[in-house]
Amino acid sequence: MSTAPLTIRGLRKTYGSTVALDGVDLTVQHGHVHALLGPNGAGKTTLVRTSATLTRIGEGEVSVAGRDVRTDPAGVRRAVGLVGQSPALDEKLHGRENLVLFGRLHGLHHAPARARAEELLERFGLTEAADRPVSTYSGGMRRRLDIATGLVLRPVLLFLDEPTTGLDPRARADVWDMVREVVTEGTTVLLTTQHMEEADRLADRITVLRDGRVVAEGTPTELKSRLGGDQPVLTLPIGADAGAARESLARAGITGVEVDVRQPTLDEVFLHLTETDTVADTVTVTEGAAR
Ligand code: ATP
Repeated sequence: MSTAPLTIRGLRKTYGSTVALDGVDLTVQHGHVHALLGPNGAGKTTLVRTSATLTRIGEGEVSVAGRDVRTDPAGVRRAVGLVGQSPALDEKLHGRENLVLFGRLHGLHHAPARARAEELLERFGLTEAADRPVSTYSGGMRRRLDIATGLVLRPVLLFLDEPTTGLDPRARADVWDMVREVVTEGTTVLLTTQHMEEADRLADRITVLRDGRVVAEGTPTELKSRLGGDQPVLTLPIGADAGAARESLARAGITGVEVDVRQPTLDEVFLHLTETDTVADTVTVTEGAAR
């Protein structure tokens, strides 16, 4: 059996007549941030819940660090951390108390729970706020404390469900730094996100789900080059009519047009992979100052 942090083979899960997962294969390698992308209803939550033993597995095999979700669910639960979108924090308790409480509830003695709390507070820049009730924390601090809570038991695999939804750019950047730190702690991360920039910045590998199936997998760079490599970009002089330019481009004749190339963005990759009628090889025309 594979000892990778997460191995999924032929996973199929239905809810009545709805097929949530339709034969998914996925391997998450140790030390990676692996992003799971897909439109609403693609099956991301079902995959995470099944892997974390919160939802009964249908057909197929799922193992976490060599522990089978069917035969060793308790072992799987010891190996995973799960940070959902609604923080599992007690607002009235201080930051430190939340971490210690989580450790105690999961079987740590007081001294190790306390020591682990100190370590996490220090590591993630929460020491100064450690003795304040969570109700006084900013959204970004809450999110970081919540992620720290998921790390108390040093999980092999941390599931992070849309960790930066609702955060401002500064707080989002702080959470991204934290996710990078998590990996240096020895924990592998499976991240679900709707933010392509987040996947682009953080993920070593990306799996794209659509209608319960894997439709693409690779590094961010591989996925972008699969869409056709570099894309032509035309930058028009200020005042030029972009609509007219688009129409007459084939016939040419517009002076002052600069031609540049760029890779497709991950947003374009996502749209291409998850919408059937998106045309990939379009020419992008932008208005603005020519360089
Ligand atoms: P989102 O981004 O909206 O959270 P998702 O990719 O996480 O979507 P899932 O929540 O896994 O997708 O849902 C996959 C499919 O399974 C959807 O069609 C959904 O309606 C269905 N589904 C999920 N959970 C249940 C449930 N408990 N009962 C019935 N149908 C469900």
